[in-house]
Amino acid sequence: MFIDTHAHLNYPDIVKNIDDVLLRASDSGVESIIVPATTYKTSIEIVELVQKHKMLYAAVGIHPTELKDFDESHLPKIEELAKESKVLAIGEIGLDYYWEPYDRELEIMVLTEQLRIAKRAGLPVILHNRKSTDDLMKIVKEEYEGGKLKGQFHSFSAGPAEAKECVEMGFYISFTGNITYKPNEGTYIAYDIVKQTSAEHLLLETDTPYLPPVPYRGKQNEPSYVKHTAAKIAELKEMSVEELGRITTENARRLYCI
Ligand SMILES: [Zn+2]
Repeated sequence: MFIDTHAHLNYPDIVKNIDDVLLRASDSGVESIIVPATTYKTSIEIVELVQKHKMLYAAVGIHPTELKDFDESHLPKIEELAKESKVLAIGEIGLDYYWEPYDRELEIMVLTEQLRIAKRAGLPVILHNRKSTDDLMKIVKEEYEGGKLKGQFHSFSAGPAEAKECVEMGFYISFTGNITYKPNEGTYIAYDIVKQTSAEHLLLETDTPYLPPVPYRGKQNEPSYVKHTAAKIAELKEMSVEELGRITTENARRLYCI
């Protein structure tokens, strides 16, 4: 069994076919799926979506590349939404210095406030990082305060040293389908991180609809494909897919209280 800890199922063309998508997911051994929001608006939509489908859970939050329509009043509203049933995390939040232009100060403020919301709510965070490793690690460490903050570094893109620090703080890390791509420099670093990290600190994810694993490159990703990413990670860990599925499912249940 698998838990897809990261699937953006709220896009209209996916919602349209949601029953088929979820059926294919359960047929592939996926038992639960976490749907992270990216704005205040999508947070509301996702809280509604997960009430309709047993296997779905929600994360509410504001993504660093989605700050165009940001308003400070959204933060207390996210904190209120976090109390709704089936909301089990604050996410997807983080920093992104890839897409120009970006407002570093605003990104840092919105991230820091949401880390504090998560701590007050006692919920884990789902973290996004693109070209922002130094700032993200610094802020997470500052807000960590000896164990109150917990969560997942999704689509892990920092190095082996940061992976070690994340694990030492009790965080979990995950890779998307891009770990199945033809190896390049970045993939080899990901391989090393998977090998050095105990399975007890790994989670599985698709990042649907992005980054589908081989053999579905070029198609729209979906939760049923998580087994291909799991197979690659199991190979690197020299364990069976069943064993990796069992351990990462336990990890997700523990972190997100599923
Ligand atoms: Zn995402």
